[in-house]
Amino acid sequence: MAEENITSPRKGGLSVYGTNVLMNITESIGALPARNSQFTAFGKDNAEMISGEYVNDHILIGNPTCHACPVACKKEVEVKEGPFKVKMESVEYEPAWSLGSNCGNNNIEAVAFIIDQCNDYGMDPIELGNVLSMYMEASEKNYTNGDGKLAWGDAHAMVEVTKQIAWREGVGDKLAEGTARGAAAFGHPEMAMTVKGQAIPAYDPRGLKGMGIAYATSNRGACHLRAYTPAAELGVMPFGSLKVDPLAWKGKGELTKIFQDVHAVSDSLDLCKFSAFAQGMSEYTEQFNGVTGLDYSVEELLKCGERIYNLERYYNNQAGFREGSDYLPKRFTHEPSTMPGSEGHVCELDLMLEEYYNARGWVNGVVPEHKLQELQII
Ligand code: SF4
Repeated sequence: MAEENITSPRKGGLSVYGTNVLMNITESIGALPARNSQFTAFGKDNAEMISGEYVNDHILIGNPTCHACPVACKKEVEVKEGPFKVKMESVEYEPAWSLGSNCGNNNIEAVAFIIDQCNDYGMDPIELGNVLSMYMEASEKNYTNGDGKLAWGDAHAMVEVTKQIAWREGVGDKLAEGTARGAAAFGHPEMAMTVKGQAIPAYDPRGLKGMGIAYATSNRGACHLRAYTPAAELGVMPFGSLKVDPLAWKGKGELTKIFQDVHAVSDSLDLCKFSAFAQGMSEYTEQFNGVTGLDYSVEELLKCGERIYNLERYYNNQAGFREGSDYLPKRFTHEPSTMPGSEGHVCELDLMLEEYYNARGWVNGVVPEHKLQELQII
């Protein structure tokens, strides 16, 4: 799968296992955050029990698609019996991680049930999983100050606390404020795995260093979709066209800039993010020219992506995000991984930031006037 195309049905990957094909892969390289990122892996057997392969073998009932998509990455599931009985559209990698490994929970039926709760309540399962895992860490360390406790992997209690959050009852009132504010309310903001107030997704930046600089410099907080560097770090680009060492920091600043600019283009074209596993700027440019009748070169269209990213950053600068705003939780930069695959590694954010700002032409996260002029933003 890794040498060719992750979207290809022939090769397994997204079509067969959905995005959750990643669970066993990130586990194997020490890049699967566990127990509120205190660990960089969940353990092989535990990861297997919440993986796409396990879903496929035990609860899968269908492969829905967005309109006319041949990839069909959604994985519809049904749990027919027991306390977590549910039928729902799709178990994907991010929520399987956030409500699974991140909470010390290896019960995939409970994961499916809680994702369905999120769908009903209108909650983001990534943020919910981070809130719950932060509360679990607070419980373990006796920081909850009379606000009850939640044990790692207690799936039944996770369901109940999710209801409390939705209805803002008991501790749910505090947790409903989100991970960053919830951790601050417990007096320990360091337990919040957030950037610019947004909780992290399912990649530990000690094992996938590109994700560290991508989270830190994303204009909307810790986000894996502004620059999906794992595509290159895990070697799932088309036909292995770009493969880099996930544990190396060098080059990741420049790599992140490229991904951000390319994704700004593909997002603006309203394409599925997974198109990037099969297409690059040449294909995007042909499609753009075909639809608009214009005649852009690849370089001109990529420049549009750069302009979009700079405009967003300029807006953030005006809103008060300036030097020091591109940070990571200290856990990633100061607490080395203890798990196989990434053991001993931290995320070298400062080194990557220097490289990134040089590539962008920014001054400590701020877009200078000459850059705005060069890109015809002002
Ligand atoms: S369009 Fe994208 S998200 Fe939708 S089924 Fe296809 S690959 Fe999955």
